[in-house]
Amino acid sequence: MSDIQRSIGRWAAQTFPESRIAGVLAHLNDEVRELNDVFAHEVKGMSPESALERIAEEAADVAILLYQLGSRCGFDLEQAVIDKMAINKARTWGKADSVTGVVHHSETTS
Ligand SMILES: [Mg+2]
Repeated sequence: MSDIQRSIGRWAAQTFPESRIAGVLAHLNDEVRELNDVFAHEVKGMSPESALERIAEEAADVAILLYQLGSRCGFDLEQAVIDKMAINKARTWGKADSVTGVVHHSETTS
């Protein structure tokens, strides 16, 4: 497990002793929404530096909650990312959605 996950897990356990996995997931949803709002509303009119700072701040909130989830559940987030990227790199990918640009893999598994 990475030092950052260990540090965040320890901090979260001390700071939010009542926290439950469902609460971490609810908070993660809130933070993803905040990140989306930054792109949708906040960055307009901002300097590129300020916009990037706000995006990074909200992306960090999302990452912190993913590290917390890993600590609470007992998995190593970085290893999970490495393992999943190996799967992703071996996959066949479809065409980009014309509106969102999202591309899904062609197989039906996760
Ligand atoms: Mg936030």
